[in-house]
Amino acid sequence: MRIGEIIHALEEWAPPELQETYDNSGLIVGTPDWETSGVLIALDCLESVVNEAIEKKIQFIITHHPIVFSGLKRFNGRTYIERVIMKAIKHNIAIYAIHTNLDNVLWGVNAKMMSMLGVSNHKVLRPMADALHKFQVYVPVAARDVMAEAVFKAGGGKVSAYEECSFTTRGKGTFKPTEGTNPVVGAIGLREEVNEVKMEFMVPNFAKSAVEYAARIAHPYEEMAYEWINIANKATDYGAGALGELKEEMAFESFLKHVKSTFDTTIRYTKPVTNNVRTVAVCGGSGSFLLGAAKAAKADVFITADYKYHQFFDADDAITILDVGHFESEQFTIGLIAEFIEKKFPKFAVLTTEVNTNPIQYY
Ligand SMILES: [Zn+2]
Repeated sequence: MRIGEIIHALEEWAPPELQETYDNSGLIVGTPDWETSGVLIALDCLESVVNEAIEKKIQFIITHHPIVFSGLKRFNGRTYIERVIMKAIKHNIAIYAIHTNLDNVLWGVNAKMMSMLGVSNHKVLRPMADALHKFQVYVPVAARDVMAEAVFKAGGGKVSAYEECSFTTRGKGTFKPTEGTNPVVGAIGLREEVNEVKMEFMVPNFAKSAVEYAARIAHPYEEMAYEWINIANKATDYGAGALGELKEEMAFESFLKHVKSTFDTTIRYTKPVTNNVRTVAVCGGSGSFLLGAAKAAKADVFITADYKYHQFFDADDAITILDVGHFESEQFTIGLIAEFIEKKFPKFAVLTTEVNTNPIQYY
């Protein structure tokens, strides 16, 4: 299979435009037309993972963390990053990272953490701001359904778990074709009045150009009348972290045991602020930036990683911070990506790494 086919599916799930500015998600080594007989999924792309791919004759590695974050100037094998890239290129192995874009979708990294914890009905902890625009387009009445279909197909009209959302008002459009135009209705030099509808759709930013392109093709007129409008709405299905409730309250002690066994880890935590845990906030990886959101949502606990000594004080008797370790918090992401690809491409070889890429050991 061409790796481009797999990438296309992954990017429908977690659009690369949703990644944070410091990130480097996407195709890091290879081109979309490279062929592969399977995929190997890991959290980190280390040399041992590339070796595993060579051994197993897999030409495509998908990892959560990008192996390259910033510019490389030399390729002489002095750092592990250079060695990974050199070896991958030498063996025609493509490397793709699906990182903060998979953190920033409702059904990504954090959803998997929640489901492992037994929390259903989670939502995004901090919905993304400036992630939506409104698309307004004016079409003759007869073209309404064709336009709606085109916009929906291109990714417009999605509001949280609702699809095909639109609003239509009727009105009259006027125009006068001038010399050199080729109007579908009306005649050169005469003002035309047509029964039209104004159609409105919410569109995530990453789908803007696809929607505009599809609308132009669907529109019967030579010139499409349309507007993109800035809106203040937050995108509830895109953003950082997750928030949800346990089906039943758990005594703090039992909850701690539950988290420990779920993530198979050593937990560093701040003092309990409640005897019973109900509302849970999570963020896979380094999540301290979401503490304010977790507190504002009145979460009893915030499960994340990479907390430093002084940052633990920020719990401030309002919430209990549980640091379960970076690798441990994201370990289920490997299975999450594997399940997604298996579902999309049932006959394709999907392998998860046998290498433990966690750089941290516990004594
Ligand atoms: Zn991470």
